[in-house]
Amino acid sequence: SETALRAARKKGASGFSAYSAHQEELFETRWEMLSILKEGLKEGWYTLYYQPKIRVKDRKVVGFESLLRLNIPRRGIYPPAKFIPLLEESGLIVPVGEWVLAETCKLIRDNRLDLSDPLVFSINVSPTQLREEGFVERFQEIIELFQVDPRRLRLEITENALIDGTEQMIKKLMALADLGLSLSIDDFGTGFSSLAYLKRLPFSYLKIDYTFVFGVPDNREDVDIIRAIMDLARNFGKKTVAEGVERKEQLIFLAGLGVDEVQGFYFAKPMPEAEVKDFLKAYRSENFFW
Ligand code: C2E
Ligand code: MG
Ligand code: MG
Ligand code: MG
Repeated sequence: SETALRAARKKGASGFSAYSAHQEELFETRWEMLSILKEGLKEGWYTLYYQPKIRVKDRKVVGFESLLRLNIPRRGIYPPAKFIPLLEESGLIVPVGEWVLAETCKLIRDNRLDLSDPLVFSINVSPTQLREEGFVERFQEIIELFQVDPRRLRLEITENALIDGTEQMIKKLMALADLGLSLSIDDFGTGFSSLAYLKRLPFSYLKIDYTFVFGVPDNREDVDIIRAIMDLARNFGKKTVAEGVERKEQLIFLAGLGVDEVQGFYFAKPMPEAEVKDFLKAYRSENFFW
């Protein structure tokens, strides 16, 4: 039982020693954490924050990224770094990921953000989800259930998920693209995806990882890496998104290199639904950012 587990842990039972400090501070035990992650699905503790993406060409907000949070009653709101590893390990990321898609579809269908343009919503898909049997079919069912135009959705898949690019995975990615979804390679530059995949896989966007955006325009290495990514993108006919843009000089530099879309704290932190309308109004009414 849970009590027994807690008692064992207090005595220093070895089974718990593997937990990292950040998990310790959140939950007493892995058991408690897992039960909260499961309960959260039934109780509605998962919630989405939205971070805008801005198209450089016309400076318009062209979409948002849905980012998962866990809102535990009387404890507060937790970022994904604190719980996604266990969601992945336990397989719970599959139902939670379906919830993320469904919630995003509902938001689009009901136009809860009062959007006048058909903005595109990006959601993150993890390697575990991608490997799951029936993943494409489930996503298709959900999109059809809410009757959302698939062109309103973009899937962000981390580059690392593509390393073991099996035929099966390639088929799944093709099927997703055939549904009309656009695909983006997330955290691009941090993994080891082979260049052959860039040609073979149906991705339309490369999302440049924030670790390279961090040092521009001053850090020579970061500048070189981003230039190389831009060359790749041009040669392979991919669009580019830069994440983690925090300062104006980063924005100016990236715009100068021809990056298509930018996203980061400079424009807005990820925010709850209730704040998005105010953000959009404020964004339209000032040219402050540029
Ligand atoms: P990601 O997809 O690379 O998302 C970008 C992360 O960078 C977000 O962290 C965002 O809040 C943060 N960020 C955005 N702009 C800035 C900036 O200017 N500066 C800095 N320092 N950070 C910035 P978040 O929301 O904590 O998400 C972390 C990661 O968790 C995501 O990385 C993604 O891999 C994963 N994740 C989030 N939501 C989901 C989800 O629904 N499903 C899955 N499978 N993974 C998710
Ligand atoms: Mg992402
Ligand atoms: Mg990213
Ligand atoms: Mg990243």
